[in-house]
Amino acid sequence: MNILVTGGTGYIGSHTVIELLKLDHNIIIADNFSNSKPGVLNLIREISGKEFKFYQVDILDRENLEKVFINNSIDAVIHFAGLKAVGESVAMPVAYYHNNITSTLVLCDLMNKYDVKNMVFSSSATVYGMNNISPLTEDLPLSTTNPYGSTKMMIEQILQDVYISDNGWSTALLRYFNPIGAHESGKIGEDPNGIPNNLMPYITQVAVGKRDQLSIFGSDYDTHDGTGVRDYIHVVDLARGHVKAVEYIADKTGVEAINLGAGKGYSVLDVVNNFQKANEIKIPYVLTDRRPGDIATCYADAGKAEKLLGWKAEKTLEDMCRDSWRWQSKNPNGYE
Ligand code: NAD
Ligand code: UDP
Repeated sequence: MNILVTGGTGYIGSHTVIELLKLDHNIIIADNFSNSKPGVLNLIREISGKEFKFYQVDILDRENLEKVFINNSIDAVIHFAGLKAVGESVAMPVAYYHNNITSTLVLCDLMNKYDVKNMVFSSSATVYGMNNISPLTEDLPLSTTNPYGSTKMMIEQILQDVYISDNGWSTALLRYFNPIGAHESGKIGEDPNGIPNNLMPYITQVAVGKRDQLSIFGSDYDTHDGTGVRDYIHVVDLARGHVKAVEYIADKTGVEAINLGAGKGYSVLDVVNNFQKANEIKIPYVLTDRRPGDIATCYADAGKAEKLLGWKAEKTLEDMCRDSWRWQSKNPNGYE
């Protein structure tokens, strides 16, 4: 298949492109490098041993994005491009709504024009909001607590409406849980800007000596050890879920929301302990107040993905801890 991957130089996109190239799909990446580095392109070539096309283009820029459709015969789009920092979205809601929603509208418009009606969209478990009880199933009511989450919920709605207007569309709304880990080569991984908001990059930066200690946000939750429980999924497993999803939507129509999670919950302390053991590194930490907006427990019912896509997460928490550390220790300053 000829697959356009928006945001294909980002964390999840780059791992997914490698899995797609392995299966000899033809890949066209469109990214503006707003949250990624050009160096990723050669690393993808190095790891995969394959070639692909790249366009440095902003998905908001209709004229230049249209050139990608004119010059390539595209069968499907995997749409990763978007801004993703929750805190930043609260501070800059207009930028988030504009970048994430307007770009998706531009993309859908061009897809309609060039008769490309298969899309895999990066949604998030954040659309389940704060009130649902885990394990989370795809049919639960959705709600959000910040502009980032609202962009995901609104885009899901837009893609449902696009299908209602034209039943020729085939769309997978993939709701990711907590992606961590890195490619096992240690060449590509997550490279957050500034102080990491997420748990695993924070832990690896403590391990590499860039931060003194981890703050564990809340130790009085109703969980097995009092710290928050999440569904961590290895980014390579997640990438493989996209391969299955793009193949699944190819020969049908409709819209399916599908959880991509491991279906298991681990607490913050489980992750810290596992990291320490897998890598034989001590992670100093302090227990602090809860982080506003966090819930105690969030994990997927991963049954629908297995049933529809024949996919389930295979890698263990130990694999995730080991691979995250290999990436960070080989690249203490990320891609810089
Ligand atoms: P990322 O920031 O590493 O990748 C996103 C890519 O999109 C970047 O390379 C960025 O340069 C590009 N981009 C952003 N806006 C663009 C635009 N207007 N035009 C062209 N390119 C643009 O993020 P990621 O972690 O790989 O996430 C990929 C997608 O998955 C995002 O939509 C994100 O919201 C979603 N998601 C991520 C997580 C997570 O924890 N990482 C969880 C759930 C959902
Ligand atoms: N967390 C923490 N310290 C940090 C970052 C995160 O204790 O520096 C906790 C957080 O409260 C949550 C879990 O780790 O219980 C996962 O948080 P992350 O931000 O990675 O993902 P999300 O909140 O989106 O599930």
